This record gives sequence, structure tokens and C-alpha cells, in this order.
Amino acid sequence: MLARTGRKREDITLLAVTKVFPASEIVDAYALGLREFGENYVQEFSGKLAEVQHLTDARFHLIGHLQSNKSRRAAEIFHCVQTVDSAKLARRLDEVGRPLDIMLEVKLSHEDAKAGAAAAELPSLIEAVRACPNLKLRGLMTMPPWSDDPEESRPYFRKLAELARAHSLPELSMGMSHDFEAAIEEGSTMIRVGTALFGKRVKPG
Ligand SMILES: *Cc1c(COP(=O)(O)O)cnc(C)c1O
Repeated sequence: MLARTGRKREDITLLAVTKVFPASEIVDAYALGLREFGENYVQEFSGKLAEVQHLTDARFHLIGHLQSNKSRRAAEIFHCVQTVDSAKLARRLDEVGRPLDIMLEVKLSHEDAKAGAAAAELPSLIEAVRACPNLKLRGLMTMPPWSDDPEESRPYFRKLAELARAHSLPELSMGMSHDFEAAIEEGSTMIRVGTALFGKRVKPG
């Protein structure tokens, strides 16, 4: 499919989403050559940390919503926080004093429940992040409303790509197990894949 889209393999990072799975899955995936991992919860990943700390060139991304009271811990244990959606959260992460990659989560749908900044807020948010000496802004992230049909996601991917271009941001974190092909066609540089790699997650509780 890469040939069809004219995209190159090395331009697209596979982020292995390991939420809910035990740390041993990360260790196994690392042994198979994966290096970038996505986790949704600060507390859950904190619990796995001791078992994955020896994976020296693994990089861990927070891809779930971050509450500001967990921002310090997040900045300590993740290499990248993909879900920054306010200037306040950016400043909190910056205050921790560690170099940290971040992405801005953009909400492109009108669902009430979804986190993310509105597209109109991006200019001021980008300015706020650029004023934070410890934060390096990599790009934009989005999560379209759930649908079985990847074509339903495509307009959101296209919109995120337009926004990234308009703001000269290189990274686009978009596409999951069911819609990553459409995301790649629309310019994704990082697909976040859980189920297609590890199988179905059994919800805790
Ligand atoms: C869980 C999750 C994924 C991975 O979803 P799959 O459908 O299992 O590939 C990607 N991104 C985010 C933000 C997630 O929460």
C-alpha cells in the first residue's frame, strides 16, 4: 500500500499501543524490533516502568488524556506527550524541567466527550508552547469519532494534515488499527496501533 500512496516506509513510525497489556508485551515487542510505544494512563505505565527501563532506546509516548495533577509524573516517565491541549498543561509540563517532546491534540469533531484543542486555538497554543524552553513541539495528533468505516475518519485526517502544513509542523500522529491505511494516504507520520499488533484488549474490571 505504501507504493500506492507514494509514501516511504521510513517516513512512517509505527507506535505500538500497549495499554492494558502487561510490561512483558513491551519487552517482547522490543525484542522483535519495535522502539516506539504508546500508553494511555500515567499510573498504568508507572507500574510497568521498572520492567521496561532497561530497554535503552525505547521511546514511550503518552497518548491518553492527561490530567494536570499527573503532569509532573508524566514528564518524568514519558519521552513524548501527544495529548497537550492547553497552554496551562504545556506550562506545567515545562516546569518539570526535563526536555520533553510534545504534540498538540486537536479535536476536529463536535463530540462533547473528546479531549483536544479546537483548531482555532492552535495559533495561541503553539505560541505558548514555543515559549516553554523544555518542550519541543513535534506536531499534531487527533482521534476521529469512532466508526468501523475508515472512510469516516479520512476527512479528519485530511483536516489535521492541512493544519500541520499551515503551521509548518512535521509530525502527524493519526490512524489506528482500523483506519491507518487511510491515515497514511492522508499524510500520517505516526500510526498508533494496538489491536492489530497485540490482539483484542480485555477491559480491566
Ligand atoms: C487505544 C488507542 C489506540 C490504539 O487503538 P487500536 O484500535 O487498538 O489500534 C490509538 N490511539 C489512541 C489515542 C488510543 O487510545
